[in-house]
Amino acid sequence: ATMPPLLSAIANAGRHGVLVKSAVVMERLGQVDAVALDKTGTLTEGTPRVTDIRPLPATGLDEDALLRLAAAAEHPSEHPLARAIVAAARSRGLDIPLVEDFGSAPGTGVTATVDGKVVAVGSPARLLKGRAEHPAAVVAAHLEGEGRTAVVVEVEATPVGVLGVADRLRAEAAATVAALTTLTGTLPVLLTGDNPRAAARLAEEVGVTDVRAGLLPQDKVAAVRELESAGRKVLVVGDGVNDAPALAAAHTGIAMGRAGSDLALETADAVVVRDELATIPAVVALSRRARRLVV
Ligand code: ADP
Ligand code: MG
Repeated sequence: ATMPPLLSAIANAGRHGVLVKSAVVMERLGQVDAVALDKTGTLTEGTPRVTDIRPLPATGLDEDALLRLAAAAEHPSEHPLARAIVAAARSRGLDIPLVEDFGSAPGTGVTATVDGKVVAVGSPARLLKGRAEHPAAVVAAHLEGEGRTAVVVEVEATPVGVLGVADRLRAEAAATVAALTTLTGTLPVLLTGDNPRAAARLAEEVGVTDVRAGLLPQDKVAAVRELESAGRKVLVVGDGVNDAPALAAAHTGIAMGRAGSDLALETADAVVVRDELATIPAVVALSRRARRLVV
């Protein structure tokens, strides 16, 4: 028998490296007329590296001591920033102590008890809120001005240092943004939990003008709903736990598979298994072709 068009399109998407979870999803992909892209792990490669280690002088900590604390608290986390921090500690041969009472807040950071003290590692926007004059905030702002993601380390609610982390833009990011713009007739929107300075710099490189930064998971949902209330069918592409609610709220959600969190992969309607962004416009086009054959 000849395969129905939507089923052959699913098989075809599979050959492109995209797992489309159902025929309904295969059909919906071709209906999207707006795209919202996550930054870290989606437009970037998702393997960030620690570039700066800045203990605050008043704390008496050296670089290794600061990195060891951060790596211990981040060890249980699957966030790309956490992996970067743990990898940096390993490459310096530091021992990473086991922690207790680990907790994480998507879009904010982690907390854990290390050596009997509560350590928090996370976003300057949340941890240093209302403390713009603090030396840690000054260091963080400087790193962000250079396009880095700044990560603050606190011990017992006192900031002790800042780490700078940077990720490379995917080689195919700008071309994918251009292809999605042509397919949908509108420029994709960038939705990120990262800081506005790093977001703006990256947006410029990929050719996106509508940038929403500093977003919590529920803010990403609100942005999607805003687009949908204007009559758009939104495709969300993301990878993190923080993207899961937006992936669920969107008309169609696609997760990046390699660095993606389990929650994102489960929530999304389709998964990019081969780690290439350019497969996304390809499957939208496949869906459009299959739908023309169906109707
Ligand atoms: P994006 O939307 O760009 O993928 P996330 O929402 O995952 O980014 O993260 C947003 C911000 O929250 C990060 O830039 C960082 O400041 C903070 N953050 C989230 N998780 C962690 C973590 N495990 N360690 C440190 N900071 C974190
Ligand atoms: Mg992400």
